[in-house]
Amino acid sequence: AEQATANIGVVGLAVMGSNLARNLASREGNTVAIYNRSYSKTETLLTEHPEAGFVPASTYEEFAASLSTPRTAIIMVQAGKGTDAVIDALTEAFEPGDIIVDGGNALFTDTIRREKAVRETGINFVGAGISGGEEGALLGPSIMPGGSAEAWQTLGPILKSIAAIAEGEPCVTHVGTDGAGHFVKMIHNGIEYADMQLIAEAYDLIRQGTGATPAEIADIFAEWNKGELESYLIEITAEVLRQVDAKTDKPLVDVILDQAGSKGTGVWTVQTALDLGVPVSGIAEAVFARAVSSKPAQRAASSALPGPSEIPVVADKAAFIEDVRQAVYASKIIAYSQGFDAIVAGAEEYNWDIKKGEIAKIWRGGCIIRARFLNRITEAYAENPGLVALVAAPYFTEAIGGTQDSWRRVVGDAAAAGIPTPAFSSSLAYYDSLRAPRLPAALVQGQRDFFGAHTYKRVDMDGTFHTLWSGDR
Ligand code: NAP
Repeated sequence: AEQATANIGVVGLAVMGSNLARNLASREGNTVAIYNRSYSKTETLLTEHPEAGFVPASTYEEFAASLSTPRTAIIMVQAGKGTDAVIDALTEAFEPGDIIVDGGNALFTDTIRREKAVRETGINFVGAGISGGEEGALLGPSIMPGGSAEAWQTLGPILKSIAAIAEGEPCVTHVGTDGAGHFVKMIHNGIEYADMQLIAEAYDLIRQGTGATPAEIADIFAEWNKGELESYLIEITAEVLRQVDAKTDKPLVDVILDQAGSKGTGVWTVQTALDLGVPVSGIAEAVFARAVSSKPAQRAASSALPGPSEIPVVADKAAFIEDVRQAVYASKIIAYSQGFDAIVAGAEEYNWDIKKGEIAKIWRGGCIIRARFLNRITEAYAENPGLVALVAAPYFTEAIGGTQDSWRRVVGDAAAAGIPTPAFSSSLAYYDSLRAPRLPAALVQGQRDFFGAHTYKRVDMDGTFHTLWSGDR
């Protein structure tokens, strides 16, 4: 066996793992052990980055022997079966007190299961959500670790050293026990879906409503990026829109097939929210919008469906564009508010002590949804830790209040013009549901009592009531 020379290891050297390993190696005091199932990837990384001083291993035994104790290893392999296989091998090769970190995109319920199983061997298991893609992994991601407080003691300093820095603070915090980190990463991705869809709807409305070219809309978004919407996603959208296709000289966005794919975390967010009974309608519409786009047969079969007989003309283009910007801002506040509602509900269901303000803080850098207004969320939860809805915080009530007329005009104009805005309109419907003094849910309860004797409660007295309905059944 080799001499133990590394203080941290990485298993899985595809795009994410190799970048994370290089990030780790670039930090003072780290020596990084590397392992990959097929040795060719290990060899490539060694050859391409001699400066990193990697300690390669060709077997799990060699990998374990190269790590000083307590051993700490981060797994970056294919989620699902691949992750299970590596965890099994590492639990064999490691000893009690060692730490296994899964940095992949695991489903949080898998992480809860794995943590429980690994803990029985005396080894610590930490599921850590890592966001920021390839570049984040290399230069500094946002990291959302779960697992035990003891594991965090050892792991915390290492993760802090590789995380993105936002306003002087590393974008990592101990989110909560077992699956809490992967849960919060999942919600992050759900919000990411909503954010992307909102920007896409804005682009579509501006293009169809004003006839602006993709390059012109890129300029508009670059301008938006100087204000309250400042964010990574707005920034990269401007770049995507500016891109010209080398083959055709057309805007690249016009030659990309309009069918959006997904890898699962958005779907998981919505499935989980449905189980928890949390309305994440903005996120759900974003997931459904990708699903609709990816049904070419249904879209083709429906192309003869009639649209509006008269399409309204945008008279004041600048005013319209500003209305759309306000609609993005309002709907974005709703998406975050719904996402944090899901975090609160998940924390309650799974007994996690999640500090909401800390989550907003670690999303300020490194991750895909990094945005200026996350500081406002941290402040809102600092002011009132028991805040029941983010939109109800004074700052957000005022912010979203200021968008009202614009937001409603945009949703109305879009409907009149026959342009789909599922995320804008569902967010507005959710907003109006929240603020309604009475909802027609009373009638739904009446219907339920009629056909199923489901009973109802009254506004004027305690207890449960059932009416002896006289209607024909
Ligand atoms: P990937 O394509 O998801 O997985 C490939 C890696 O998994 C290879 O190293 C492969 O080894 C290994 N692997 C697969 N099955 C294995 C098994 N049974 N035993 C051992 N190793 C196995 O790689 P990736 O794109 O770098 O992603 C890694 C993880 O990060 C995934 O969980 C992914 O979801 C997550 N991810 C996160 C982000 C983000 O922004 N946070 C972005 C992308 C990916 P071989 O070389 O031997 O095949």
